[in-house]
This record gives sequence, C-alpha cells and structure tokens, in this order.
Amino acid sequence: MKKKLPQFPCVIGLGKSGTDLLDFFCSQRIPCVGFEELSRENFEAALNTYASRGAKLFFKDFPKNEVKECDLFLISPGVPLTRPWLSGGIPVVGELEFASRYLDGKILAVTGTNGKSTTVTLLDFIFKNAQCTSSLKGNIGMPLISAVNEPPSSFYVVEVSSYQLETIDTFHPFIAMMLNVTEDHLDRYQTIDEYAAAKARISMNQGPGDFFIYNADDPKCIHMAKKVKSKAIPFSLVNQLPEGGFVKKNALVIRYKGIEEMYPLNECSLQGLHNQENMLAAVLAATLAGVNSQSVRQALKSFTALKHRLEYVGEFLGMKFYDDSKGTNVGSVVMSLASFEKNIILILGGKDKGGDYAPLASMIKAKVKLLLVLGEAKNKIVSALGSSTKTIKVSTMRDAIQKSFELGQKGDTVLLSPACSSFDQYKNYAERGTDFSHWVHYYGEGAS
Ligand code: ADP
Repeated sequence: MKKKLPQFPCVIGLGKSGTDLLDFFCSQRIPCVGFEELSRENFEAALNTYASRGAKLFFKDFPKNEVKECDLFLISPGVPLTRPWLSGGIPVVGELEFASRYLDGKILAVTGTNGKSTTVTLLDFIFKNAQCTSSLKGNIGMPLISAVNEPPSSFYVVEVSSYQLETIDTFHPFIAMMLNVTEDHLDRYQTIDEYAAAKARISMNQGPGDFFIYNADDPKCIHMAKKVKSKAIPFSLVNQLPEGGFVKKNALVIRYKGIEEMYPLNECSLQGLHNQENMLAAVLAATLAGVNSQSVRQALKSFTALKHRLEYVGEFLGMKFYDDSKGTNVGSVVMSLASFEKNIILILGGKDKGGDYAPLASMIKAKVKLLLVLGEAKNKIVSALGSSTKTIKVSTMRDAIQKSFELGQKGDTVLLSPACSSFDQYKNYAERGTDFSHWVHYYGEGAS
C-alpha cells in the first residue's frame, strides 16, 4: 500500500460497506469512529465485533465532540450528503473512492439503471475464463475495500451505483461502462437529469488512454459520451456501427481497430434482448482489456444467468413462469416485456420508488392479457395502467399465482417483473422471487 492512510477516520453508516471499512481500519490498527443514524439494537453484531477491536461506535445522535479530531469522513451510499453535520470542513468521501486509492490493478466500473449485476458478473467470468486475475466487487456483493487486504488482481470489476458516484473524487476507471439511464430512484433525486448527472461522474477522471463504453440506443448515454475525455465506444441493438458492438444476423459483433469478431447468439447461454446489451458491453470491455475471442466465446457459452433476472421457473399446465423480481423499475420491465411476444400475465407492484408507470401502458396494451397488481404501489399502478388491459388487485404473491392458474391458459407466459422495490412485503428482491417460485411450484405441482 503506497498511499498514506487516514489517522483517525469516521465511518458514517454501519451497513455492509461501513462495517467492511471498520474491519479494514481495525486490521490496520487505525483508531476510528463509527456512526449510525439508526438505533443501536439493529447493530449488536457490529458493536461486539468492532468495539472489541478498538472502534468507538455511536448511534442516533451525531457525536460532534468525538469526531472533532477526525481527518476523514467515510460516508455510506445510503446517507445523503445533505446532512447538516457534514458541513464542518472535514473531507467526505465514499467507500468506493477510498478503496480505489489503495489498489494498483485496472478498474472496470459498470453503472446504469439496469443490467449492472449481470454485466459485471459476466465480465469477471470472461476474465477468469481467460486465466486473468480478476476481482468482482461493489454492489454485487463485497465492497471494493475488501480487495485492499486481498492478493492483488490485474482487474477489478466493480458494480457502482449513482449514490456511490456522488462521493468520488479521484476514482479513475480504465474502462467505464454506461449501460442505460431510465427513470429510477426518484425518491432520492429531484429529477432524472440529477440522477443522470450522478451517474456521469463515473468518467470524470478518465483521460485519452481510457475507454467509455456506452449504449448508443439511449439518448442520455449518447449525451454523456459526447462529453467524455476518454475514447467513447458505443454498442447498439439497432444500428450496425463502424466501431463498437452490435447485433447482426443473430450474432453479437465486435468491431475494433479494423478487426471484426462474431459470437453467434445461439451459442450464448444468456437469453433476452436486455442480455444482448449486457453481453455486448461485457465483451467490448473484455476485448479492450486484451482478452482473446476464443476465451470470450467459451465464456459466453458456459456462463450461467443470475437468479431473479428473467429466470425461467418452469412450465405448468402449458404456461411458462418467469421470475424477474430484480426488475424494480419501469425501464427493466420494458426490456423484459420486449423479450416475449404476447399472452403475458404480468405481476406488478411492491414499494413505489417515485417514478411514473405510464410509459408501460402501450406495451401492456399490446402484449399483456392480464395485469395482477399487488403491494403498497397498488393504487398508483392501477390509476396509471388499469385501463390498458384487464387488471385485478391482489393482496399477496400467493393470490397472484392462484389467479394466474385460475385465469391463465396454455401458451401464456406468467411474468413477475414488478417495477417496484420489494421492501413493503419482503426483506429484498431475492426473497420476493423465491416466494414467487414457491407458489408457482405449489399450485403448479398441485395442478399438473
Ligand atoms: P442491476 O444490477 O443494474 O439492477 P441486473 O443485472 O441485476 O441489473 O438486472 C436487473 C433487472 O433489470 C433484470 O431483472 C432485468 O429485468 C433488467 N435488465 C437487465 N439488463 C438490462 C438492460 N441492459 N436493459 C434494461 N433492463 C435490463
């Protein structure tokens, strides 16, 4: 580790990245303070582990006096920068910024409203398949700081959110990827432009030797690409590009420096239109990082899709069931609906995130025969979409599946792609997806 570490840092927010930061400081024997706005009861584990290793922990009220001597605040992505107690002149950075200062390998950072987890996992898989050392970090699982105490890697493939990008300063990815920008998180941002501006920060420290891979079918991404100082490389599902990634004759095509590589889609394990975008982005990045096409081809074949992302659950009474519980905003539902022809029974709803559901109306009219709506957002969704197709309000996932079996018929596709977060009824999207599969099997196996 070449760079100087802080002498007395304060970690704000004791979730996953916060406790990993405490762990890091304790491992380096650096005295530190931890502060959490929620009350103490939820954090017994953190209390026991880190307090016994020397960290001083505080809850609820900001410990103004105890942090007077701190030289750095490390803030969790969930804590807004607008908190008044952050204005005392002590520098504030996020975990992503902080961790990146202590890593020597190349950082490949992926952001976008949808597809981040799939793309980073695929890219890391391609690297490993090509025998490169690669470490998969960020929102997908382990915070980047966990890499600092691990053996060095050639590549760090990092999933980054707009929240994390708000608190970068010198963070400098060799390859930055902007998958798409559609409405999301309007419970935190005033406008979609404010949200897009936070995402655009991913390239702010890039230079001519770096790359910015972007979705050339997305107006917000195109706008960003015009402003970057790195080399912008586009991908598109619509146009064949002189340089970049696109789809031609049922194959992914990568054109770079006059060389063209083709990867037939029927040899790729990932299905769905949205995954064509994710694959184009990941394969472009791997190509720019020097991976040969043979290794890429093999990896595309053997990669397994992540759970709860348009995951095929099974076929019962001639109906096919798909769990897209991770489809938590309108943009992702549009892409999931685009992957099917018609006769769809769509399950929408959960906790509202402040966006507008109306952009789904025309697709629902064209493809969805029955809309089942549940959760806190129920009434808002029905007002926006209820007139587009037959719509029924249900209370639970169990009711939704029961209704699907009752009203569906052979040839239908039952799709959970809720356009909402899960926190009104579930711990997270994975629990919601698992509940969906459970009731599908329950009624399906009872019925078959
Ligand atoms: P993220 O990590 O950005 O949430 P995931 O890979 O977990 O992305 O996918 C989340 C959901 O977004 C999936 O369930 C799918 O519905 C949708 N999705 C995935 N990739 C894309 C894409 N490129 N464009 C639009 N929607 C996508």
